[in-house]
Amino acid sequence: MQDYRVDPGSAVNLADIDPNAPAELTKQSVKEETGALNRRLEGLQELLYAEGKHRVLIVLQAMDAAGKDGTIRHVFDRVNPQGVKVASFKKPTPIELAHDYLWRIHSKTPGTGEISIFNRSHYEDVLIVRVLNLVPEARWSLRYQHINDFERRLVDEGTTIRKFYLHISKDEQRLRLQARLDDPEKHWKFDSGDLDQRARWDDYMAAYEEVLSRTSTEEAPWYVIPSNQKWHRNLAISQVLVATLEGLAMDYPAPKDDLRGIVIE
Ligand code: ATP
Ligand code: MG
Repeated sequence: MQDYRVDPGSAVNLADIDPNAPAELTKQSVKEETGALNRRLEGLQELLYAEGKHRVLIVLQAMDAAGKDGTIRHVFDRVNPQGVKVASFKKPTPIELAHDYLWRIHSKTPGTGEISIFNRSHYEDVLIVRVLNLVPEARWSLRYQHINDFERRLVDEGTTIRKFYLHISKDEQRLRLQARLDDPEKHWKFDSGDLDQRARWDDYMAAYEEVLSRTSTEEAPWYVIPSNQKWHRNLAISQVLVATLEGLAMDYPAPKDDLRGIVIE
């Protein structure tokens, strides 16, 4: 298993990180492992829910078409929807904009026994907000520290946080956006705004590099997942999540009453 974790405090240069799967892996060679990981994740999520002690927050960030939706569909395809919530953060509403940027985020964090998946997140407030100059630099530049403090507080109160940047090449994005245009059944996924963001690719890479360098912490680490191949993206994220949940050393709770000898009539 490759280590895609961003070491806290390290400088990240995305151009130096290969967005392709390691050459020795193929879709066929990892098929069994991916299936086994999905089944383990299913069991671990049930245990998390049953035990009711921990909270798990998963953050997904990426350029358009990098596969946030596909990750949610494939990595979590066996889990029980009762214990897993997805929160998709879009352009803020007027009410959200009338509050500080973490206001809408906090209410979507996981409760005890739950997994919350953030499809985009508070990081948009130092990504698109920075790239499009939506608030002055004097304001967004303070947010890295706020975010570290906010996440630290969640961790101190019992939340486990893992953050994933789905790393694709600009050329892979071109192919995927073109595929959306070429297939009428995928037209609903195409948003002409995506082309405006694509035109700012280099600015986004610089903004992501700063996020990854400044907000990967021991307690809430980032992982840069090579995602040009969807099967590799799913495998690598599943590996991290299974290892994380196994690290919680969970156990089914003991029964409240002595159940020995009880026979249902
Ligand atoms: P899809 O893969 O379906 O396109 P998406 O996550 O891109 O999913 P969209 O509705 O297309 O969803 O886009 C949401 C847009 O909202 C993104 O461009 C994102 O950058 C933007 N957004 C999210 N949070 C903020 C924010 N805090 N301020 C401004 N824009 C934001
Ligand atoms: Mg979009």
